[in-house]
Amino acid sequence: MAQQLHFLMIPLMSQSHIIPLTDFAKSLARRGALVSIVTTPLNAKRYNPTLASSPRIHLIPLHFPCREAGLPDGCENLDSLNSLDLARQFFHACRLLKSPLHDLIRRLHPSPNCIISTSAISWTQDLADSFRIPRYVFETVSSFTLHCSRKISHLVDSVSFDSELFQVPQIPHSVEFSRNQLPRIRTRLPTPDPAPPRGTLVNTFQELEPWYLNACMEERGSVWSVGPVSLSNRGASERFSRGNEASIDEHYCLKWLDSMERDSVVYACFGSLCTLSIEQITEIGLGLEESNSPFIWVIRKQEKSCGEVEEWLAAEGFEERVRGRGVVVQGWAPQVMILAHPSVGGFLTHCGWNSTLEGVAAGVPMIAWPMFAEQFYNEKMVVDSCADKQGLVRRERVRSAVVELMGERGMRERAEALARAATDAFEDGGSSFLNVTLFIEDVVRANAEMAVNVLESY
Ligand code: UDP
Repeated sequence: MAQQLHFLMIPLMSQSHIIPLTDFAKSLARRGALVSIVTTPLNAKRYNPTLASSPRIHLIPLHFPCREAGLPDGCENLDSLNSLDLARQFFHACRLLKSPLHDLIRRLHPSPNCIISTSAISWTQDLADSFRIPRYVFETVSSFTLHCSRKISHLVDSVSFDSELFQVPQIPHSVEFSRNQLPRIRTRLPTPDPAPPRGTLVNTFQELEPWYLNACMEERGSVWSVGPVSLSNRGASERFSRGNEASIDEHYCLKWLDSMERDSVVYACFGSLCTLSIEQITEIGLGLEESNSPFIWVIRKQEKSCGEVEEWLAAEGFEERVRGRGVVVQGWAPQVMILAHPSVGGFLTHCGWNSTLEGVAAGVPMIAWPMFAEQFYNEKMVVDSCADKQGLVRRERVRSAVVELMGERGMRERAEALARAATDAFEDGGSSFLNVTLFIEDVVRANAEMAVNVLESY
């Protein structure tokens, strides 16, 4: 049925939007659909290798108007901005894509049957409307976040001080937030769509958050949980280079992991956007060292601290001291591959939703260290938490959290049970698999309805 269908995907140019959409494209392509993903020249370079073996998925690079929007050349992805202070210009550049996109859709052959775009670029609804095709929003946050953020939006201003805790009302769990976790969230959370999309796809699975998914359905109508989409890479050879060229030889990484004991390695990574001070980076390194656990530690390349990190690593002899027991990756790691390895027994994460769900799908217990945006919501869903979120987190805290996590059996069993539920949901016949079918059926129905409307207007 999906044979003739053509899906046009338009992600926000950010790793946490492009990666899950690309993964979801693989689910659709496996059903026989054709998928085109709008990208930019530099992002295409990063993602092309991952799609080499997927002939039904095409990347369509569009010139990204950096200069026109006041951005330095080459800032084609949120992760390439020196500072998130440039985010406004970045979103402006994204908006400038509207007219080239209009031309692209007009020329696209076969014509797309729908647009799937992430919630941060709701203006794509206008494009869908002008071509009389349905638009679906792909949410890159959990349904727990979607529901709770709506519930507390009006409470934020009613508390008297920033650290005062308040309960999320009318939900079945006891969940508290303080305002100092929230203001920055409000600036990053999806703004409401001007015209509602035809339906919502969420990268989650029914068994993980059934109540919150149902609540989202009551609020929004058609909602399909189709995740964890990272599982679309399972067993595929391209999973090794998923997302980007890695800054570590993946086969070396795999061999090193093979040489470690089961569940013994801690993987520490803070996503594609978190900016850490050099003080914080060194405290993390020393805490990992003092934990005595083997580890893979990813240090994001940040223009500002890059030189300082290298200096510190060299001056301290850190890598020398941890040689054989610790691997430092400066840049980009093949995260999904690492998490799926049986030697990995713990994940120190910033709790971006993609990372959180990838940890859940891999059955790896997590230490939650949320820093901004919706990460505080995701923290509530995972098993252990690093305290002192607001200032510097000292090495002792990093060390004790790692030691505690790696020594705990019950947590591992719970994480493994969740991973089995995730796999069951994603595989043939599971809830997410069935939801992809329901979604495809809806696209067919929407196209039929819209064709009738066009005929009737003559
Ligand atoms: N990621 C990766 N290697 C890295 C850093 C990040 O593969 O070295 C991927 C990670 O697997 C996830 C995405 O980048 O899919 C980050 O998205 P998330 O929502 O976790 O966090 P954000 O980057 O938005 O803070």
